Amino acid sequence: MQLVSNQPFAGLEEFVVENEPLARFTWYKIGGPARYLIRPRSVEELQEAARRCVEANIPIYVLGLGANLLVADRGVDGAVFRFSEEYWRQIAFNGTTLTAGSGVDMQKLLVRTIREGLSGIESLAGIPGTVGGGVRMNCGGKFGDIGSVVSTVTVMDPHGQVFTRTKEDLVFDYRKTNIVAPFILGATIELEEEDPHQIMARTKEIWMYKRNTQPLNTKNCGCIFKNPRGLSAGALIDQSGLKALRVGQAEVSSKHANFIVAHPGCTSEDVLKLVHIIKERVFEKSQVVLESEVKIWPI
Ligand SMILES: Cc1cc2nc3c(=O)[nH]c(=O)nc-3n(C[C@H](O)[C@H](O)[C@H](O)COP(=O)(O)OP(=O)(O)OC[C@H]3O[C@@H](n4cnc5c(N)ncnc54)[C@H](O)[C@@H]3O)c2cc1C
Repeated sequence: MQLVSNQPFAGLEEFVVENEPLARFTWYKIGGPARYLIRPRSVEELQEAARRCVEANIPIYVLGLGANLLVADRGVDGAVFRFSEEYWRQIAFNGTTLTAGSGVDMQKLLVRTIREGLSGIESLAGIPGTVGGGVRMNCGGKFGDIGSVVSTVTVMDPHGQVFTRTKEDLVFDYRKTNIVAPFILGATIELEEEDPHQIMARTKEIWMYKRNTQPLNTKNCGCIFKNPRGLSAGALIDQSGLKALRVGQAEVSSKHANFIVAHPGCTSEDVLKLVHIIKERVFEKSQVVLESEVKIWPI
């Protein structure tokens, strides 16, 4: 919906809309609207919109491809930023160094690097998302994670100050980083030269593994829970007899118990209830407290 004047974002109507449904921007395709959806086309527009959020005390959210996200049915009473415009989707190669904007689709990036004969991000095969979301989550798995090849990350604080974090002070841990700035604007990644056929063969192997073990052709948000140290959340859920458990139109995947699949008509509430039940049952059975990997909005 277009903005009306005298709003906190008056004058920014070209890239700010109000009460915009978020479901279509998430992998799950469920969830309510954002009070404001902001799609800046430059750093200056981002700075101006962020400044208005601080001034009006509007909570800031940043959305990538929504592949690790569950938005509540009531939506988000805040400003949701998306780096979907051309400016944030640029890719540049300088020798074996790759610079990518935060809005770059990781799967497209992987294909580009293979074509260029540069290896290093094959572990991202089958992981949907943007570079910004990937860095924020330090996405990856048994084949490696993005943090191991990232050398710098450009970020912006809520006051509009842009700065670059380097490898020396960046910490990438299991599905998290030490980046606290709300906006990741881009990253540089160090790759290695290799025969494209070999990179492609390895990528295909990883992709096949994912296809065989994850319910990829369903609506889901990847793993719902983090693996507790030394344990597998999926195995714990399976051992609790919860595969195929259903609440409304949300179902624990029979293929991978750490995935909750949304069937047609599913609501976020269905998923949240199922998350709650899984946590309770796994605790009863194994005395392990599962921690969510999926980000749930509002925070
Ligand atoms: C089928 C499927 C398979 C998956 N497999 C894996 C897997 O194997 N390994 C794995 O790690 N994950 C996996 N995931 C989860 C998901 O793909 C990753 O977490 C991915 O990094 C999410 O990126 P995104 O751009 O969609 O981020 P979103 O889901 O949109 O956001 C995730 C978090 O990142 C933040 N964020 C996003 N962009 C920015 C930005 N520019 N600046 C600051 N913060 C930002 C958001 O605020 C949010 O907190 C899978 C998901 C699906 C649907």
